[in-house]
Amino acid sequence: MSISGKSRIYGLLGDPVAHSLSPLMHNVAFNQRNIDAVYVPFHVSPGELSAAVDGLRALNVAGVNVTIPHKEAILPFLNEVDSAARLIGAVNTVVNDDGRLVGYNTDSSGFLRSICHELNFQPDDKCVVLLGAGGACRAAVVALAGAGVGQIVIVNRSLERAEKLVQSFSPRFPNVDFLAYDYSDKDYLSALSHADLIVNTTSVGLHGEEISFLPLEHIKGSALIYDMIYSATETPFIKSVQTAGWLCADGLGMLAAQGEDAFFLWTGVRLPAGYMKKILVQR
Ligand code: NDP
Repeated sequence: MSISGKSRIYGLLGDPVAHSLSPLMHNVAFNQRNIDAVYVPFHVSPGELSAAVDGLRALNVAGVNVTIPHKEAILPFLNEVDSAARLIGAVNTVVNDDGRLVGYNTDSSGFLRSICHELNFQPDDKCVVLLGAGGACRAAVVALAGAGVGQIVIVNRSLERAEKLVQSFSPRFPNVDFLAYDYSDKDYLSALSHADLIVNTTSVGLHGEEISFLPLEHIKGSALIYDMIYSATETPFIKSVQTAGWLCADGLGMLAAQGEDAFFLWTGVRLPAGYMKKILVQR
């Protein structure tokens, strides 16, 4: 599709952006769906974020994704932030509604759609162990707690960070039983043994490292395992749990699903689950 004076412009604000797969996902989808729009990466350094957000209004950019390091920093520059994104404290999608910039978090909704679609996870009253306590973990907590899981165990290298998350989320989700451990706590092993879903939300594995803090011998055979990290050839962690027989998936599906949710917010077109993952797998 060629760009005309009527084409709508979408994009990505981040630093760096050169590696991003989002332009591919969105441009292929715009093309396949005959939507007159284009998606471009904008390299924005932290000191330029405020000017870049003003630029979105000035240039009538219809919407953007937001990635590292701006997901939290962008909140004060927006006109409105949806309630889930505010709870998570991070925005990864912005819709420009006639100059009013509204922030959403589709990492959270995309994570939930990915585990339900790829692992057939059914949240009701389930016990979930989340490894890590950063921004990705917060997005997972809000998705899982909102979907009705019974227990969320947050396990982190720095216990204090996990405890802080539990303190902030417990009052918001009174029906969920929250626990916080570090990896040396023996109660962590007991939580692992009855977990229905275990999620790596840490950054470990991003550069091909093994996950040393998840003893597989404690995990029940029926547990589902998800790694938010993704790579072109599956992460070492996913390879090892798959070989050992657990049902598992890596974070490529989450990347794709957050893109599908952003696409819906921007265009009103609901792509079927797995649509953008197919684009990524075929790249
Ligand atoms: P943060 O920097 O906010 O948090 C990183 C987490 O990893 C912390 O809990 C940190 O523990 C833990 N960690 C880092 N190094 C180690 C280590 N050596 N041993 C144990 N724990 C460690 O990052 P985010 O939460 O924003 O992102 C985490 C990962 O999630 C990213 O690598 C990103 O690629 C992935 N992600 C994937 C998405 C997708 O679409 N698939 C979307 C969003 C994120 P501590 O607190 O102790 O430092």
